Amino acid sequence: MDFFAWVNRRFGNPLEWSSAAKATMLMAATLAMHGQYTLWAHYCLAHPELSAEAIQAEFLQGELPVFHGLLLTTFLLCLLLPLLWRLFGDSTLYEYLAANYYGLSHCYFAWLIGTLSLPTGIVLAGAPVLGFIFFNRSAVVVAFVNSSLALLVISLMSAWGGLPYSPVIRQFISPDGHVLLFWAGNFIFYSVPHLLFLFGLAYLVLRRWREREDQAHTMSRIDPLTGLLNRRSILIQLGREQERSVQQDSPMAVVMVDLDHFKQINDTWGHEAGDYVLIAAAEVLQKNVRQNDRVGRYGGEEFLLVLPGADLEGARLLAERCRQQLEALEVMLFDGRRLRASASMGVCCNQRERTLTPEMMLRRADKALYVAKESGRNRVVTVDD
Ligand code: GH3
Ligand code: MG
Ligand code: MG
Repeated sequence: MDFFAWVNRRFGNPLEWSSAAKATMLMAATLAMHGQYTLWAHYCLAHPELSAEAIQAEFLQGELPVFHGLLLTTFLLCLLLPLLWRLFGDSTLYEYLAANYYGLSHCYFAWLIGTLSLPTGIVLAGAPVLGFIFFNRSAVVVAFVNSSLALLVISLMSAWGGLPYSPVIRQFISPDGHVLLFWAGNFIFYSVPHLLFLFGLAYLVLRRWREREDQAHTMSRIDPLTGLLNRRSILIQLGREQERSVQQDSPMAVVMVDLDHFKQINDTWGHEAGDYVLIAAAEVLQKNVRQNDRVGRYGGEEFLLVLPGADLEGARLLAERCRQQLEALEVMLFDGRRLRASASMGVCCNQRERTLTPEMMLRRADKALYVAKESGRNRVVTVDD
């Protein structure tokens, strides 16, 4: 099974979550990160043989209450945010709170291992990028500015001697000039969860964006009832095919199709039955055209066929085949009743006058359709250009 499809079904679209849900999710991720740092501190202190030359054990020991305090606070925020949501409703304030807490608590850890280190850089650069996609933008800006200022102040104070730089690190580079494996490994250990979190979330959000874009693209082209091209799209196709017809000096034709007495069908059988007829008629038309032909829903019960490469006789034959099949069509309603329909069609081809514009072709096909209606319906009338 597609893991991301499962996540999508289970958690919905993160972009549409409430502020409280987003803030809680960020706090849950922060809890995992703070938990990781705390476990790391305990592990290092419990195994001095691994870390004695690399870390300042006494300093780290003294900081443990802060680690525990932050862990507890994060845990409480995970519980508090959904509670506040229940009590007071949703508010972007939750996002401000979570984003700032995430940023500033990380500044503390950044200070411990060095504000100018790889993990600090990854969090500082990655979090706002993702935050802008996911969270309230002002909340991200405020949190980013606050955290950057905090990091700047810590870095400057370290430079001027007001604060020790990376106080947890006893030595980063050994006297013989190598980076301590302990720190190389730990920086990777600190960075990887952030990268995974950022990549995972970015992947989900971008994937959802692409799906939405595809949906919007389809919705802008396709008529939802019949699945045919909508009016806008079929007219675009007509314009393209007409240009190609002129360039390649090959003919093309349009067929305007209008179902007969459709209002009566609606009035007698109901609007829903009318919809079934439209769907069935669309299928007939689609089935009878060639691969490069285009079928669109031009209006309520009007369809337009665009037939590149067709001469007048070819287009007339195709229209006649469609007409016969529409006439023979029996639409079965859900209650077992069957109803029949027919269509009139007007055909126009540019075989003699290649410079006919799309508008002129439509007007002429419409005129032919009018003649078909006037002369008794259920027939095909062609315009000889
Ligand atoms: P004619 O033979 O002269 O074309 O008569 P007609 O009744 O087909 O034409 P008219 O223009 O009077 O009526 C078209 C009807 O099509 C009216 C409108 O309610 C119906 N219609 C338009 N769109 C839809 C739709 O999406 N679903 C249904 N069920 N009916 C629709
Ligand atoms: Mg009509
Ligand atoms: Mg009609």
